[in-house]
Amino acid sequence: MPSCSYDEKNKTINCCHSLKCGSCVYSGMKYENELKVKQDYVSKLFKGVCNVEDIVGMYRPIYYRNKVHAAVGQDKNGNIITGSYQENSHKIVDTGECLIEDKVCKDIIITLKQLFKSFKYKPYNEDTGKGYMRHILLRRGFSTKEIMLVLVTGDNTFPSKNAFVKVLMDKHPEITTIVQNINSSNTSMILGKISKVIYGKGYIEDVLCGCRFRISASSFYQINPQQTEKLYKTAIKMADITSKDTVIDAYCGIGTIGIAASKKAGKVIGVELNSEAVKDAEINAEINNIKNISFVNEDAGKFLVDYVSKHKADVVFMDPPRSGSSKEFLDSLGIIKPKRIVYISCNPETQRRDVEVLMKYGYEVKKMVPFDMFPHTEHVECVTLLQRKNT
Ligand code: SAH
Repeated sequence: MPSCSYDEKNKTINCCHSLKCGSCVYSGMKYENELKVKQDYVSKLFKGVCNVEDIVGMYRPIYYRNKVHAAVGQDKNGNIITGSYQENSHKIVDTGECLIEDKVCKDIIITLKQLFKSFKYKPYNEDTGKGYMRHILLRRGFSTKEIMLVLVTGDNTFPSKNAFVKVLMDKHPEITTIVQNINSSNTSMILGKISKVIYGKGYIEDVLCGCRFRISASSFYQINPQQTEKLYKTAIKMADITSKDTVIDAYCGIGTIGIAASKKAGKVIGVELNSEAVKDAEINAEINNIKNISFVNEDAGKFLVDYVSKHKADVVFMDPPRSGSSKEFLDSLGIIKPKRIVYISCNPETQRRDVEVLMKYGYEVKKMVPFDMFPHTEHVECVTLLQRKNT
């Protein structure tokens, strides 16, 4: 079996699964060169719009993924396999070793694979809808080291639950909570709607920018906390918030950016579509004793359309999913006219599209910093400061 390796000097990974898995497209390349490729890509994309500052790379770009997903399936001989999906398919690549995923989580997956066999938990078959175990999802708090295991099953039973939990916890006492998520639908989504706490609190906590955050099974949380801290600090600095400012944190997830920025602001409103994430965000405000923040569980575009008629906003953070923001949202920004918009994006293409709309509404791009949140993969994240021309 070939093995993967990391060259400390050049910060190069050599992944033995890269051809099948397809995630680490820069396997084999010096990290310095990879950063240059990403820098050039963003500079070219934003040519004529703004200068792009130097990309912020990672000091040691391995084992950074604090969220590890493995689909559960079986090979031709009926042996259980766990791993990621081959790109653009639902074929599982059994990635025993991975240089970007958290190592402790990866070890737990190896144990689970053995336990599924001994407890006779059959892999779920997406084509027939038969079988039981569908996915393993692990999250590890970077600062707290707390670990949440989510087992996604095809039905709501849990045969030999107590014995299973005991054997697993004896082997991995570092797991702090176990959640069962039930997903019986014919879907490519990993998580179903119902979750049951099997062991522990049902969530983990992590510390970022001096604040403590609760993260539940289905809430979004940045996957590279070391880089996230740098990114948030840059974004908050760009926003240049004063105590008179009303700040909107749109697409706020569990409230991380808004909570970290709240000490400087008059008040903050976070908007998020996922109701679980909003529950986490409200608790996070409490844990951190933040009184000047509130959260709205709504589509960010719909929220802003209603908001513009009655209220003001001085600064807006926006951090939409890969598809970018909606027309409603951008048009409403054109009406509400915040003095600054800090746009964080994991997809520079849709960001460029949305920035052009905002430029038509009287904004100019003052600053743009790419962050390497996902070393060795093709992805790059950008933080952009847009300022109203007449302010
Ligand atoms: N700012 C957060 C989350 C960014 S990820 C952080 O840094 O952790 C994008 C978030 O947008 C996710 O939490 C997702 O649930 C949410 N989202 C997706 N579509 C949305 C919409 N139309 N309106 C509001 N939130 C949305």
